Amino acid sequence: MDAITSEPTTSGPNPPCDVGRRHPRDKHRMRPVDGFDHVWQCARHSLFARLVDKATAESYERGDAYPMHDGGDGVVVQHGDERQGGVILYYRAA
Ligand SMILES: [Zn+2]
Repeated sequence: MDAITSEPTTSGPNPPCDVGRRHPRDKHRMRPVDGFDHVWQCARHSLFARLVDKATAESYERGDAYPMHDGGDGVVVQHGDERQGGVILYYRAA
């Protein structure tokens, strides 16, 4: 990886995995998904997170169907922290 592609994105630090947020003894962060901006994945828990605007986040509730970044069918897991005027939305494959 060269110096340019290894620069941090403007989306900020990797968000914590939602499973880790609910289990303080298992805190860990998610990793960026190659080829998608503001999308992260926890491979261990098959969980994804995406930075979306607040209006989008508010239009989804836990358990709602959510179109995944790769075009697959997803389901909303949880809302996460706010950052840069948006909200982290956690989801997984349906
Ligand atoms: Zn995890």
